[in-house]
Amino acid sequence: MRSLIDIVDFTGEELDALMQTASDIIANPDKYAESCKRKKLASLFFEPSTRTRLSFEAAMLELGGSVIGFSEANSSSASKGESVADTARVIGCYADIIAMRHPREGAPYVASLNAGVPVINAGDGGHCHPTQTLADLFTIYREKGGCDNLTVGFCGDLKYGRTVHSLISALARYKNVRIVLISPDELRLPGYIKKEVLEKYGMEYEENASLEDKLPELDILYMTRIQRERFDDMEVYERLKDSYVLTAEKMKSAKSDMCVLHPLPRVNEISVDVDSDPRACYFKQVENGKYMRMALILKLLADKDVPDPRRAEQMVEDGLLKCSNPRCIVAVEQELKHQFKCTDKEKGVYRCVYCDAKAK
Ligand SMILES: [Zn+2]
Repeated sequence: MRSLIDIVDFTGEELDALMQTASDIIANPDKYAESCKRKKLASLFFEPSTRTRLSFEAAMLELGGSVIGFSEANSSSASKGESVADTARVIGCYADIIAMRHPREGAPYVASLNAGVPVINAGDGGHCHPTQTLADLFTIYREKGGCDNLTVGFCGDLKYGRTVHSLISALARYKNVRIVLISPDELRLPGYIKKEVLEKYGMEYEENASLEDKLPELDILYMTRIQRERFDDMEVYERLKDSYVLTAEKMKSAKSDMCVLHPLPRVNEISVDVDSDPRACYFKQVENGKYMRMALILKLLADKDVPDPRRAEQMVEDGLLKCSNPRCIVAVEQELKHQFKCTDKEKGVYRCVYCDAKAK
């Protein structure tokens, strides 16, 4: 049985097939109106995220299915101390598929090992949010007719932005994608993403601190929010915060068919005067997210007998290695075994199977 925990769980062919299904749903909605008749989605939101939850629920309802679940942890048995594994096993008896959001990194993966039904990661801490990446990718695909041969600029907080890291990993599956990383020094893309994604897949990339300088080259501009709390020095924050605000004036230097994406919510990094520009695609992105969630639900229900590639990975468990991440699910659930996969044999790098943090 397949689940979707991280965007890299799917091959490029699988991503393309999902986007084709989503396009077909848009063209022929009636054909899919009863595809999930008598099927139930459990939406298990251990922390609130109204827009993601509503997108999953709308997706299942449009497929003719129904939805059960909860939208915050204190209304669930987790508040009584039940483990994620037990919760998943119980809910798997009622539901055909689960969408789970959890503040602990790796919790949806633990659920997928125990539920007996497919599990979709709807966001686990700062780790992964693969359905946002599906929305991002499908927006590029629809606006550009494909995801090959593009110059994609990422602007803002590239250090902590998990949506940036995931979209770069997804774009690594496509041909001739050039990445332009636009950020202040303090918020540059982490070195391990450069090594383990950009360099590993031979993607051309450059780093630059100026949005104005790079804007004219871009086919896609992916904006992110710069959060005040990421800075130790408020003077640095004050100096930088307005340099990454996209305005109608700046848009004059961009290509006539460039697309602006943003995972939303925005604060002030895209001025509202850009909203009426046909190149502003961030609200289309929300709608595309629903269609991709519909395609994903159909795929995972259809792939019930396909083995999960995650189960085939070589796991290491020696009792000495420990996950170094305090936000990992293993940090709070004592009965879970610390397990690792080797991501760099030469340097002996082991990463936690739940949260991908390095072992210590
Ligand atoms: Zn971990």
